[in-house]
Amino acid sequence: MSTLTELQETTTEPVNGRERNLMDRCERCGAESFIVFTKGSMTLPACRHHGLEWEAKMLLTEWIMWDYTHLLNERPSVSANAD
Ligand SMILES: [Zn+2]
Repeated sequence: MSTLTELQETTTEPVNGRERNLMDRCERCGAESFIVFTKGSMTLPACRHHGLEWEAKMLLTEWIMWDYTHLLNERPSVSANAD
């Protein structure tokens, strides 16, 4: 189980207008992050699965949710030439 305090030290991203960091990994399962929660200088990246799972609880505690799940559909398919 990870702690939020250790995230504070590794985060230099601006909170507003935040760009998705390709290095972000879900805090729970390590999958590629498509949802990021921020609160002050803290960030908590999550995969789509865990991001949606945590959404209600996080918003209740005043975290901001950055949803990048739309990027899931913009990724090039590696099987595009499979025709
Ligand atoms: Zn996850």
